[in-house]
Amino acid sequence: MIVFETKAALAKALFPYRERNMPTGFVPTMGALHSGHVSLVEQCRKENCVTVVSIFVNPTQFNDRNDFAGYPRTLEEDTEKLNNTGCDFLFVPSADEMYPEKDTRLFDFGALDKVMEGVFRPGHFQGVAQIVSRLLDVVQPQNAYFGEKDFQQLAIVRHLVRELHYPVTIVGCPIVREPDGLAMSSRNVRLTPAQRKSAPEIARTLFESKKKITGTPVDELKKWVIDRINSRSELKTEYFEIVDRNTLQPAGEYRENALQGCIAVHAGAVRLIDNIAY
Ligand code: AMP
Repeated sequence: MIVFETKAALAKALFPYRERNMPTGFVPTMGALHSGHVSLVEQCRKENCVTVVSIFVNPTQFNDRNDFAGYPRTLEEDTEKLNNTGCDFLFVPSADEMYPEKDTRLFDFGALDKVMEGVFRPGHFQGVAQIVSRLLDVVQPQNAYFGEKDFQQLAIVRHLVRELHYPVTIVGCPIVREPDGLAMSSRNVRLTPAQRKSAPEIARTLFESKKKITGTPVDELKKWVIDRINSRSELKTEYFEIVDRNTLQPAGEYRENALQGCIAVHAGAVRLIDNIAY
């Protein structure tokens, strides 16, 4: 695996592949890699001639300073994991490299960012779009891999590449979970033992809600999910929405294979998200 710190060096290394029409696959991350990230890299390797992973804790997508400051940074372990997974090129730019000047672009996501994460993390998706578009400009991949764990982000990125006419296929990858159901997240390492013990209640409740969705009115089910999670003293639900899978707009009633339940929960200072297909 070759490690690059500059856009120019990475672009130069990728040029021969593009010239020969050999597909490049790209996995953008913020590091502190776990098996969820590794599953994206593995899928990328299967479908491309060259696999590029980026690790960049993007300051512009954090609306909470403490979250940015406390975000786990484990470059040495990450590098080893990527080496073992067969990543070809690792891109680890500095903030100055990605943002020589402030990014002042404003992206229009229609109604997609007017709900859920867009409401509770103002500016978050503007930051995501800034960094994703810049990374796509450098890597120019044929395929880019994103986790369904960040369900709204995936919808926003699909919208972004359509709007900007990027010739890239966005591949959504399933959520990888701990054996007890907790969705893997770089932030999980910041949970206290008591919070870590309660956290799987989020996924358990989502799985249970899937059994109930056909026989329970949407509003009643939403209340049931929120109450059950909040009954754990370590957990406080920020939002739980049942939305149309494509438009992300709140759904009034059940429609088969059309809905997604999306949740954000605070466990002390740690914010966890998860979702389920209904
Ligand atoms: P992050 O480093 O958190 O920005 O995540 C980088 C990519 O990995 C994003 O596309 C995430 O959706 C994806 N990802 C994070 N956690 C998981 C998981 N548990 N399962 C699948 N994909 C994940």
